[in-house]
Amino acid sequence: DVPVLRKPSWIRVRIPSGNAVAKLKEKLRENRLVTVCEEASCPNIHECFGHGTATFMILGEVCTRRCSFCDVAHGRPKPPDPEEPRHLADTVADMGLRYVVVTSVDRDDLRDGGAQHFVDCIAAIRDKAPNTKIEILTPDFRGRGRMERALEILATNPPDVFNHNVETVPDLYRNVRPGADYQWSLTLLQKFKAQHPEVVTKSGIMLGLGETMEQVQATLRDLRAHDVDMITIGQYLQPSAHHHPVLRYWTPEEFKELEEYGLSLGFSHVASGPLVRSSYHADRSAMEAGVA
Ligand code: SF4
Ligand code: SF4
Repeated sequence: DVPVLRKPSWIRVRIPSGNAVAKLKEKLRENRLVTVCEEASCPNIHECFGHGTATFMILGEVCTRRCSFCDVAHGRPKPPDPEEPRHLADTVADMGLRYVVVTSVDRDDLRDGGAQHFVDCIAAIRDKAPNTKIEILTPDFRGRGRMERALEILATNPPDVFNHNVETVPDLYRNVRPGADYQWSLTLLQKFKAQHPEVVTKSGIMLGLGETMEQVQATLRDLRAHDVDMITIGQYLQPSAHHHPVLRYWTPEEFKELEEYGLSLGFSHVASGPLVRSSYHADRSAMEAGVA
């Protein structure tokens, strides 16, 4: 058994008072929408909601895969809800969001991996909230012919930012991300960029699952070699005792070192810090990359 590590001080966050977040949460309930911000008890929720940024989870809350770090339920998902794009767009407009991240569970049960539903959501948001920038954080669309189908569909209405997380270093995939394939994810990122040179591509990894500095640096080099523009690097936090343990808390200095390393490789933006999440400061990073 691995001992449970005590959280270092830089992981704890102060929760400010105020009802802006409470109001947004009410709106979300009214429209029956799910945000990752709430579901994952993200430590940045006050900051993000306060800035007009949120991450929505579409295509249900049940995943066809089972990653050891992830808190999402596993099982047989329901068919996509045709009303969801409209509800999502109404909520984005209602909340006055300036930047949204739209993500989903893996839908290995769907022929297109859910790509059409992503595009329907993009179209609906653009219709109702034309000034809102849209980042999609997609699954890997793994499976025979699925990546090609998904890329073809996404090309009909591409997002402002295309994000797909490799999550961890390749040596840990079997243990941490079963059902996924490191090279497949890199290829997806590269192919999307080749099709849409004007769209910013983004990926991210979590630290604390047992990786070494050398392995992380090698992963950053792989991502850059596959034309990824922006990177997020954050500390993994264990959602419950049943999930993959935190094997190490990386220090703020190490995160800083990785940020510098990433910039030296030529990424246009590197967000690296203990509390960084895939969508943390997504609006600001995108602005710096010339999107928002
Ligand atoms: Fe939501 Fe992402 Fe911000 Fe966390 S970092 S509150 S998940 S938008
Ligand atoms: Fe969680 Fe994504 Fe893995 Fe599904 S594929 S278990 S949503 S990390």
